[in-house]
Amino acid sequence: MERRNAWNTYEEKELTELYDIAEQYRQFISQGKTERECAGMTVEMARAAGYRSLEEVKQSGDTLRPGDKVYAVHKKKLVILYEIGTKPLEEGMNILGAHIDSPRLDLKQNPLYEDGEMTLLETHYYGGIKKYQWAAIPLALHGVVAKKDGTLVTLSIGEKADDPVLGISDLLIHLSGEQMQKKAAVVVEGENLNIIIGSRPLKTGEDEKEKKEAFRKAILELLEKDYGIEEEDFLSAELEAVPAGAARDFGIDRSMIMGYGQDDRICAFTSLKAQLEAEHPAYTAVCLLTDKEEIGSVGATGMQSRYFENVTAEVMELAGQYSELALRRCLQNSHMLSSDVSAAFDPNYASAFEKKNVAYLGRGMVFNKYTGSRGKSGSNDACAEYIGALRRVMDEADVSWQTAELGKVDQGGGGTIAYITANYGMDVIDSGVALLNMHSPWEVSSKADIYEAYKGYKAFLKAEWE
Ligand code: MN
Ligand code: MN
Repeated sequence: MERRNAWNTYEEKELTELYDIAEQYRQFISQGKTERECAGMTVEMARAAGYRSLEEVKQSGDTLRPGDKVYAVHKKKLVILYEIGTKPLEEGMNILGAHIDSPRLDLKQNPLYEDGEMTLLETHYYGGIKKYQWAAIPLALHGVVAKKDGTLVTLSIGEKADDPVLGISDLLIHLSGEQMQKKAAVVVEGENLNIIIGSRPLKTGEDEKEKKEAFRKAILELLEKDYGIEEEDFLSAELEAVPAGAARDFGIDRSMIMGYGQDDRICAFTSLKAQLEAEHPAYTAVCLLTDKEEIGSVGATGMQSRYFENVTAEVMELAGQYSELALRRCLQNSHMLSSDVSAAFDPNYASAFEKKNVAYLGRGMVFNKYTGSRGKSGSNDACAEYIGALRRVMDEADVSWQTAELGKVDQGGGGTIAYITANYGMDVIDSGVALLNMHSPWEVSSKADIYEAYKGYKAFLKAEWE
């Protein structure tokens, strides 16, 4: 059984649409480099498409009727969009889920120090990374500093063409005899992921006391002047170092995109776009963009929090359909595509994959019946009947799609948010888009797969179930 390559299916009209959507996506991931930035952009796009916030609807005293569009944001990091369907909510919703957090380096709470006539920032990595990939590349710093008086300073340094960039040093090859003998996991160690941010001291006299920490002081003076931040403000900051610069077309045929944070903004963007274009769905259409997936979906903004359930209760109340039992039924009767990235077959590392059950770039949207590691441990194993129904939905909409596992049996493993929403008893399957270089600073995707995922999500939101 071999699945078709999506590129072979397009006429000129589709290609124009494909490249247009890929370009919108390229810009989205170039601007949205943190979960907060992506949540903010999502809200803007939703409002432009006629969505109102849950708070606005509540305060207005309006009720929600079929075709009404409402969103909720939690802690500026998690966004859920609902378009009310014509069917009662009790019959379930069609839910698109994806995550907007990505692997990165977070600043520690007490980050700033000087050493060797330079000023540096201590970091603690977030999510699974190969640490050596983060040395000797340009980094940008994004995030917020929450000051004691309640004001929030938003930072983005390193993205504009004339911005300075930051970075972590690597040892010159000439002196790396010892380093090159080490295992890859410790070639660059987590504690050494320190970001260099300056090397010019505050000009002082010869007084020893005055000269002390002159490099650190110079940076502090600059932070005070340019951003109104003092050192203690780092205590209540969320600053994330990410690869600097925009995503780019990849390949001389421009068939791919190389960019940071495609896990999982590639599924988030395509799900969001499908949601914004859902027109009067039968089942209530939901797009759920969550945070903290890369560290286990924990915390108030992760999928394991009760937020989704709580907001769904609010939506049902506003639609005049709430009861505790109706909420339980709504969640259990729902259908979901829990979207996250898959590993695409990589000819440079062919031995990690089983060729018949791996995703290929260009073969379209990916469905993973199960993920997990070892004996499917930790996996959501989607029901055959649900996959059968999805095959019908995708084929009727002429979506190119493929099935895959994450690598060979016992090669490793992974999982996403499917097993969490499965706790409600709903039908949910892991799906998404395949990447090369997953979790590296510069991940690669196929423009055809972006387009097919968007088409697949649109078809899913229109789907009607037995
Ligand atoms: Mn992911
Ligand atoms: Mn990931």
